[in-house]
This record gives sequence, structure tokens and C-alpha cells, in this order.
Amino acid sequence: METKYIFITGGVTSSLGKGIISASLGKLLQARGYEVTIQKFDPYINIDPGTLNPYEHGECYVTADGMETDLDLGHYERFTGIETTRDNSVTTGRIYLSVIEKERRGDYLGKTIQVVPHITDEIKRRIQLNATKKHLDFVITEIGGTIGDIESQPFLEAIRQLRWELGPTRSLNVHLTYVPYLAAAGELKTKPTQTSVKQLQGLGIQPEVLVLRTEHELNDDIRAKVAHFCNVDMPAVIQSQDLPSIYEVPVNMQRQGLDTICLKKMGIEPNSLPELGPWHSFLEHRKKATSILNIGLVGKYDLQDAYKSIIESLAHAGTYNDRKIKTHFINSEYLTKENADELLSGMAGVVICPGFGTRGIEGKIIAAEYTRTHNIPTFGICLGMQMMVIEFARNVLGLSDANSSEMDADTPNNVIDMMEEQKNIHQKGGTMRLGSYDCKIVEGSHTWEAYDKVELIKERHRHRYEFNNRYVEAYENNGMKCVGINPDSNLVEIVEIPSLKWYIGTQFHPEYSSTVLHPHPLFMSFIKACIGQ
Ligand code: GLN
Repeated sequence: METKYIFITGGVTSSLGKGIISASLGKLLQARGYEVTIQKFDPYINIDPGTLNPYEHGECYVTADGMETDLDLGHYERFTGIETTRDNSVTTGRIYLSVIEKERRGDYLGKTIQVVPHITDEIKRRIQLNATKKHLDFVITEIGGTIGDIESQPFLEAIRQLRWELGPTRSLNVHLTYVPYLAAAGELKTKPTQTSVKQLQGLGIQPEVLVLRTEHELNDDIRAKVAHFCNVDMPAVIQSQDLPSIYEVPVNMQRQGLDTICLKKMGIEPNSLPELGPWHSFLEHRKKATSILNIGLVGKYDLQDAYKSIIESLAHAGTYNDRKIKTHFINSEYLTKENADELLSGMAGVVICPGFGTRGIEGKIIAAEYTRTHNIPTFGICLGMQMMVIEFARNVLGLSDANSSEMDADTPNNVIDMMEEQKNIHQKGGTMRLGSYDCKIVEGSHTWEAYDKVELIKERHRHRYEFNNRYVEAYENNGMKCVGINPDSNLVEIVEIPSLKWYIGTQFHPEYSSTVLHPHPLFMSFIKACIGQ
């Protein structure tokens, strides 16, 4: 089958859950045996979200091949288990960069470079790039932003052209909108949806499927009205009501036939309904997991999305261990020796979160000390691991001035230091140690047990600083072990204190690779320790 292209656009407002709908549709098509990839096109000018403050767009997700991407790629991977790559995340900045580079090389032979056709051609090329590298039945492309934004216009024009070129059996547009409920009138309002679809039609795109986000059940009258005013068949007007969990969305979409409608519209007669067995069993587990497990998240970003993958990874592992995870955000900026007991003593376990810069690091160090001395299961991730290492140096090794050279460039005890090859890099974007690296695990360690005694693992990185190998011996002799080593560079990737219940820090980010059907082994083992198993 020739590759078919599904475009997911959004109207009325942002935050409608386009990413979740894209991931759900990908999941449903995958369940039918199709080869699928899901990609995100973002209209902002940054080359990638790597340089963005998490307050802007939430967490920066990292692919195995080392691309810093939008957090929606995390949803795609968690739902489908299919790894994304650098080709799955594109921004306006990247499009312009490559056009400008071509112009500088003289590739355009003296032509005037314009949004149409040069930018739109490049967008079309990027939309189809994944399918030139491997066989794909479906490429699902989510367009960031909302219809009507000035900056997404070239993307929509590219989609219009591509749909025309590919024809109706090879392309499809699913448009998400919002149906607000006016409490005073006691009514659901479809006007914003009508307006949004009109805008899309004005750009030459007729959506075949509408997904209406709503807080209240939509009756047939409302769906009929939307269908009538928007030139969409009534069965293709689907509702996406708020659900207790994002993981119920694929099932809800399947129930309403989102995948079968998409297939039929593209001329495919759907075979029998796939069962989604393991997915249902995850949801069953989730329903039964009512016993609460309190986990502290020590970080500086007071925003759920900033720690999206960590929260989801905890939820996956919690579910499989029959626990409902209640995460308590503990702002490290305000964590002190005085309030540590009040904030941390009630936690079954604590995650010390990743991050950059000095704000809030002393609070993370205090958390590491508190949980170490009170034997509370602790998981330090990236900067969190580095803070565990610094705390140990200051309070156990007696190096009271120990620090990371990120925080204090002149510290005499730089137990965390910049890698040699990083020292001459001045550009900030895309220059960290990024993506998957091998790590060899020391036999007999807690970490080795957690990984089911696997010796060589691969995990994704995103950092510039490292454990300073000059100090390995001091740590080892005093009870903090370096139990994960990169076999090529000899860098320390994992530390643990074996005498404690569970005190592990990883330089990498295990949260990027936990999925619904394959919860991450370190998170599984951490949650077990928090339960007391
Ligand atoms: N700021 C630290 C570094 O660059 C940690 C980064 C992170 O937590 N992702 O090494």
C-alpha cells in the first residue's frame, strides 16, 4: 500500500489534546497491523524546543537518536511503543534554516525565495521524509497551534497542496475543536466549531473527520447540527469527552469508530475490530489500583507538564504494582533543612528531578540528604543524580565546597564537571550529550537487579555535565557505588548506595522510554521499594 497521510489540526483553542488524539489514532491503526509513524510540526521559530524554558511548552522530550523535541512525541511513544526520530519533530525554524542553507549554497539558481513555493515545498518534503526512509502505511502529522494563527499558515497551505497532489484516498484531515458549555444558558455551543471549520475551508482544507472536545455528552442533535454546517458526515463527528485518564482515549475513540471512519474515507474496508487486549488489561489494572502511594517530586518548575514523562512513568509503574500514584510537587526553591521533615517524611518515595541552572539546587541537595539519612527510596534523575552526588561529597566525604562546575565554575571540588569535549562548545542549541548511549551495569548491584540482571542497557541522555571520575574511588570507599558505566567513554552513568533500601541516581533519563505496555524497569523497581517490597 502506498503511504497515506493523516493531518491532525486544531481549532478554537489550544490544549484540546491533539497529541493524545494523534497518539490514539496511531495506536488504533497500529493495532490493525499497519506500519505507522506520528510526527509533530510546530509553527514556532526555535529550531527545536531544546532551548525553550519548560514554562513555555512543558518538558523537552528526547528521541533515541538525540533530537530534543516537543513533549507530544512522548505521548506518541508511550501509546504506540514505536520509537520516533529526529525526522518526527519539525519546527518553522528548521524549515527556514534548511531553505536558507540551500539558498546560501546556490541551490535555487538565482530565484527569489518565497514562502510559496519554497517554504511550502520544504514543508511538504519534510512531511513525506519518514516514508522515504522506511515502509509506512500511515504518516500521522499533528500541526501545533490553532487554526487562525498567523504562523501556522504555511503549514496549512502545504497540507492543502499535498492533499490535492495525493488525492482523497491518500490523505485525510482530522480537525479537533472545542464545544463549550454555557452554564447560564444550560447549552452546548457549536458556533466556535463552525467558525473554525469555516476558517479551515477558507484555506482550502475540508476536514473529513471532526473530533469535538467537550465536558458534557453531545447528543445526536448537536452532532447532526455540526455535521450539517461543516460538510462532514454525522458518524464522522466524534466526541472527545473528558475522561479519568488519557489512556482511556484510544478505547473511547475505537468505540466511536475513529479508525474505521478514517480508513473508509481513504478507501480501505476495515477488517475486524482489533482487540487491544494488553491495553485493556492495563486499564483494568488502573481501575483496581486504588491504594494511594505518595511520591514527592522535588523540582523547580511548578508545572505538571515540565515533568510529564516522569509523572507518566510513575503512573505506568504504579498501575502494574496496583497503586494509584499521588505525586506531590515539592518546590526545591523553598525546601529548607527546617521544613524538609514536614515536606518529605510522609512520602513513600522521592524523585529528585532533572533541570538546569542554580535556582533550587540547594533544596534538591537538602532533599537528597534527608532521604539518604531517613532511608526513603530515592530516584535522582540527571540533575537529580548530580545533586545526590554533591550531597554525598559534602556530607559524607567531608568536601564541604563540593559542587558542579555548572553552578560554580571555580569550585575546587568539582565532583560534577563539564566533559572535555563540551568545553569548546559555545552554541547552546542541540549541543549537549543527547540521545541513546550504552551503559554497562555492575553485576550484583540494586540497579542490576532492577534491570532484571541485564548487563548492557541503552538509555537516553540530555546533559552537559558528568560525574568527575577523579572522585570515583572516594565515593566507592565510602558507600556510594558507581554501578553503571559507559563502556566507550568510561563515564559514570548510575550511582547507588547499596546499604539503603533504594537510593539510585541516573545521569540518563529513563522516563523517556517507559511506555504503557512496557513500564520502565527502574521505575518498576523504585515503586516496589516505595511499597516496601
Ligand atoms: N544541568 C545538568 C547538565 O547539564 C543536568 C541536565 C538535566 O537534568 N537534564 O548536566
